[in-house]
Amino acid sequence: MASSFYVDSTCIDCGTCYWVSPDTYKRDDGASAVYNDPLDSESFKSAYRALLSCPTSSIGVNDSKKLDTPPADLFPNLIEENVFHTGFHSEKSFGAASYMIQREEGNILIDSPRMLNLLKRKIHELGGLKFQYLTHRDDIADSDLYHEEFGSKRIIHKGDKIERTDHYELFIEGDAEYKLAEDLIIIPVPGHTEGHSVLLYKNKYLFTGDHLCWSTRLNQLYAFKNHCWFNFEEQIKSMEKLLDYNFEWVLPGHGSPIKLSQEKMKEELQKCIEWMKE
Ligand code: SF4
Repeated sequence: MASSFYVDSTCIDCGTCYWVSPDTYKRDDGASAVYNDPLDSESFKSAYRALLSCPTSSIGVNDSKKLDTPPADLFPNLIEENVFHTGFHSEKSFGAASYMIQREEGNILIDSPRMLNLLKRKIHELGGLKFQYLTHRDDIADSDLYHEEFGSKRIIHKGDKIERTDHYELFIEGDAEYKLAEDLIIIPVPGHTEGHSVLLYKNKYLFTGDHLCWSTRLNQLYAFKNHCWFNFEEQIKSMEKLLDYNFEWVLPGHGSPIKLSQEKMKEELQKCIEWMKE
């Protein structure tokens, strides 16, 4: 029997569908493949979220099955409390994930998804955007279009001020943390790029871009040694700096968000630093 979903040859192996819907997709010979047909409605929705997140529209659905939830209701998808995964990853950022925090003082978009009308409408319903925080220059995708739509202030570290970002409204400078609000701290973490930073929310959620992620293969916190564009030694120092902070969630650009206790997270971070030094 044909599966409900399929992946075509345009897959760029960005890894998004593997973590958005691990029950349906897996890596096979350098590309995604459907290995399980989703049987219940929850796994069908999750497989469909992967379809909507795929940056290259490489996932299709056979028309024999219909989704009973409109695609517009699948994203932004609540992760916990007021933190959402926006879906609709962009090929411009090699499929990096974007997130949104809904706050009374104004919402924040973290890195940029594709600009699509259905996501734009949902963000308006959730209260619009006050800020766009960009972890680094690689993941800015459609940030200018979001700025035009919502008038949101774009924030990035000055080390990543390049032609595509030099018109942003706010540049963080130097190594010191920057408090965007009492519960929102931007921490410069040079390494992957010169101006990479991470965002800590409520001492609980750490949005890490390409600085730090969770490897399901190694079952550990992980940094991209082979995709470090600035200086890996600096990235190790930046990782050590994070030991001074408390958080339970790592929400990366690539790979699955991970939640651990604060103690376990610190332990894992220490292990990651030792692994980086090997
Ligand atoms: S999300 Fe799309 S491009 Fe990325 S691995 Fe899956 S099928 Fe390939």
